[in-house]
Amino acid sequence: MDIEGIPQEIDDHHMIFGKGVTEVDYESIGLCPFCNSRIDEFSYCACGGNLGVS
Ligand SMILES: [Zn+2]
Repeated sequence: MDIEGIPQEIDDHHMIFGKGVTEVDYESIGLCPFCNSRIDEFSYCACGGNLGVS
């Protein structure tokens, strides 16, 4: 399945995370303690803080 018309073989996000951008679950983790934004299922936040890896 292509995500937004990007073939999977050249989709960097799909290569790194194994799924497309629109498939990542942002709801199950909660909010970032640093910036209060949603955190994705890998515990990464756009602010650079993350809960999983130091
Ligand atoms: Zn954050």
